[in-house]
Amino acid sequence: MDTTGPSAAEHDDEATTGRRRWILTGQLGPAFDDGGPILLIESKSTFTKRPMHRAKAHLFLSAIRHRAAELGDRAEFHQVDRYEEVVEVGADLEVIDPPSWTARRFVRERGLRVLPSRGFVTSEPDFAAWASTRDGKRLLLEDFYRTVRERTGILMRGDQPEGGRWNYDHDNRNPPPKGAARLGLPEPLWPEEDDIDAEVREDLDRWQRDGLVQLVGDDGPRRFAATAAEAEAALADFIETRLGDFGPFEDAMLGGDWTMAHSLLSAPLNLGLLDPRDAVETVVAEYHAGRAPLSSVEGFTRQIIGWRDYVWHLYWHLGEPYRTSHNALGAHEPLPRQFRELDAAAIQSNCLRETIDGMRRHGWAHHIQRLMVLGNWALQHGYDPVALNDWFIDMFVDGTPWVMPANVIGMSQHADGGIVATKPYASGGAYIDKMSDYCGGCAFNPKVRLGEDACPFTAGYWAFLDRVEPRIRHNTRMAQPLAGMRRLSDLRAVVDQEHTREQW
Ligand SMILES: Cc1cc2nc3c(=O)[nH]c(=O)nc-3n(C[C@H](O)[C@H](O)[C@H](O)COP(=O)(O)OP(=O)(O)OC[C@H]3O[C@@H](n4cnc5c(N)ncnc54)[C@H](O)[C@@H]3O)c2cc1C
Ligand code: SF4
Repeated sequence: MDTTGPSAAEHDDEATTGRRRWILTGQLGPAFDDGGPILLIESKSTFTKRPMHRAKAHLFLSAIRHRAAELGDRAEFHQVDRYEEVVEVGADLEVIDPPSWTARRFVRERGLRVLPSRGFVTSEPDFAAWASTRDGKRLLLEDFYRTVRERTGILMRGDQPEGGRWNYDHDNRNPPPKGAARLGLPEPLWPEEDDIDAEVREDLDRWQRDGLVQLVGDDGPRRFAATAAEAEAALADFIETRLGDFGPFEDAMLGGDWTMAHSLLSAPLNLGLLDPRDAVETVVAEYHAGRAPLSSVEGFTRQIIGWRDYVWHLYWHLGEPYRTSHNALGAHEPLPRQFRELDAAAIQSNCLRETIDGMRRHGWAHHIQRLMVLGNWALQHGYDPVALNDWFIDMFVDGTPWVMPANVIGMSQHADGGIVATKPYASGGAYIDKMSDYCGGCAFNPKVRLGEDACPFTAGYWAFLDRVEPRIRHNTRMAQPLAGMRRLSDLRAVVDQEHTREQW
């Protein structure tokens, strides 16, 4: 069966067919509802397959139950063990093309009527058309992003980019303000929990007691939007209190500021509660009204209509086997307990401990923590890329099957050998020291690679290059780092130290 995308027969009619529409997780907002009868299914199997962060399980259950309550009589809501109990072969249902390979197979095997996917700015046919014009060249984010800006007119002045530049990265990416413990922005607006959340909490406690689920991480107040109204409020709060600082501090990290100026919108976007185009248009309107700087507005726009859409389309474009069929750097180490159990207490490296501790509390970390702390660490230590991919899905409130392969297998772990990113995203402690306040309070020293206070990221970087050198020596972008490694007189001692390191 071809599940690479919609066939003409499946998608010849985007309008509702009068059939009941099965709405899946990821499709819970108004953009997926055309007014007809709705079917919602909460399946316990979603939560029982692998250990999952408690905050994620809570958010998913809360979101589907809130949607059922909102829709009232229009929705038939089932709480079952497995989807098969409700969706039989030949069921008279329509479905908006689901957001995972597994779910797409499921709905096609049951013969449901499949409508085109939604929830992204570029449609699947438009991406396929763009990709087909690349003549086998690398599908670069930058090229895709510019095409989307030109096609949609978002942040465009005629055929030129607003402000004369496509990219304001140069004005962004600042380190945190010197000496600051926090960015000093108001506390984000948090959702108010209600009776549905209380019921979710009781159910999760019971399922855990009964051994049905393995929950990891803390039970805390729900921090992410579970309804479209909460998502709108979160967007408005981001615009009012953090958008101006979003661009400049996009890559900065502070131990005392877990949200920095980030939008916290990935979870409601991925649940389908917030439409990405609406979010971008609202943010762009702030720039046109003179209330937000172009650097921040362009940065946010790039993340949504660029990166978010790009990784979604790569998920389909690269195919289902992409996740499991690449291991270009020969990474086979299992994830350590500290990752699997989010046990930060035994970790000495300040940056890693703070990041894992934040994940334990919230099921979330911001982008640079994910890429340059967690991903960088896993890359250096050769963790199995598939296990890491699935860990990110299970431990993050915004984790989905589609978002991870390009981000983890491709960008972060370079397991695909260069399909998504031209070189491994590895760096030593100097980068973390420049972009954060973590190193000041750490037992290790980012400048030291050998000895008791040798930074595990700095020494780990050289040990990593030494390990993967035979696999990356032909990558011209790695020529300089490899030449640097070959010049190290103490390389063997650094490598030996990292092989036997017990304290990290
Ligand atoms: C190893 C790794 C794992 C990641 N896992 C996830 C994940 O599970 N779910 C997820 O949505 N994003 C993931 N990302 C992308 C990004 O880190 C998160 O979207 C972001 O940190 C979420 O916080 P935010 O909403 O405050 O984002 P902001 O920093 O405010 O950015 C705005 C929005 O841009 C989008 N975005 C930005 N970068 C990306 C990207 N690389 N891929 C997809 N969307 C992007 C998100 O929708 C995000 O909400 C991952 C990135 C890496 C490197
Ligand atoms: S010294 Fe190294 S381990 Fe410690 S916080 Fe800095 S980068 Fe992380």
